[in-house]
Amino acid sequence: MSDSNTLPQPKSGVMDIAIYVPGKSNVPSGVKLHKLSSNESPIGASPHAIAAIADVTSKMEDYPDGSSSALREAIAEVHGLNANNIICGNGSDEILSLLANTYLSSGDEAIFTEHGFLVYRIATLAAGATPVVVKEQDCKADVDAILNAVTPKTKLVFLANPNNPTGTYLPIEEIRRLHSNLPGHVVLVIDAAYAEYVRRNDYESGVEMVSANSNVIMTRTFSKIYGLAALRIGWAYGPRHMIDALNRVRGPFNVNAAAIAAGSAAIRDKVHLERSIVHNDEWLVKVTQMLQELGLEVTPSVGNFVLVHFPENSNKTAAGADQYLTERGYVLRMVGGYGFPNALRMTIGSKEANLGALAALREYMS
Ligand SMILES: *Cc1c(COP(=O)(O)O)cnc(C)c1O
Repeated sequence: MSDSNTLPQPKSGVMDIAIYVPGKSNVPSGVKLHKLSSNESPIGASPHAIAAIADVTSKMEDYPDGSSSALREAIAEVHGLNANNIICGNGSDEILSLLANTYLSSGDEAIFTEHGFLVYRIATLAAGATPVVVKEQDCKADVDAILNAVTPKTKLVFLANPNNPTGTYLPIEEIRRLHSNLPGHVVLVIDAAYAEYVRRNDYESGVEMVSANSNVIMTRTFSKIYGLAALRIGWAYGPRHMIDALNRVRGPFNVNAAAIAAGSAAIRDKVHLERSIVHNDEWLVKVTQMLQELGLEVTPSVGNFVLVHFPENSNKTAAGADQYLTERGYVLRMVGGYGFPNALRMTIGSKEANLGALAALREYMS
């Protein structure tokens, strides 16, 4: 009876999805783990966010507020936005999937770049639509390549700015040029998961572009600089008509009560945010320099991670380094799935983790 013709068949596209492999967190027993594989915060969560969770534990029998009002209002207050233009999600991953499920049908195309965030491909295929992957220039999104890939079937463009795992970004003028040449019915998704880390005068997260246009939406996360990855909190700022459509598709209680409470407190804690920024500013520069001193090529990053390229035609490989470092407790991220078979992505960690990982890598390279 288990003839495959009689089994339920997933819709087209689903079996083309490569299962997302999260950053590793296992090291040999007895070895202290320093996880530098998922761009998590070495500073941790705001103490106010931790305290806010305590109030939730006494009433866990109640459903959360299905519209995440307190969280949307906190975000709106801090960013100077209208709460009606914000939607919250179970991580920004959920919002990326909602966008795909809301705007893509079978036969439609979604464009993203060759080293773009893997969730774009998963969300597109899961929606039954067709991924269109375009080349980058020097590990950077190429606006002309994206525009050249637009067809009458294009419905969405996903662009991470800055991008993970490359750490590169496009100046806001380039994003404006991209948008101004897209047809009005194409949604431009600006995924600004790392916006808080960027220290560049020509960078903007996309808030003003959303405010000024009817087909641009910006996604953000509490998983990175806010140190709340475990709670799964993301949000998007978009035009009212898009937020309205996404709200129809999302689950009625898609953000849990602990996430709403912790996120609302975290986003108001400016002191904690500033501490996290200062730490990253210092260690992004130091880690980059130290890697370069080992003779490794580092893609210039504006995020909280760096992409490290190992030399071609050498026995010092990314896979070899990964094994050597993991045995010593330093877990970086293999990025073959992102089109970098001989590179590792290293999250900017604590001072101890950064220096330890660099020392182990120096041993490996010598
Ligand atoms: C980490 C990351 C996210 C955030 O995902 P969450 O679901 O909010 O944890 C989104 N986009 C990019 C590019 C990322 O690297």
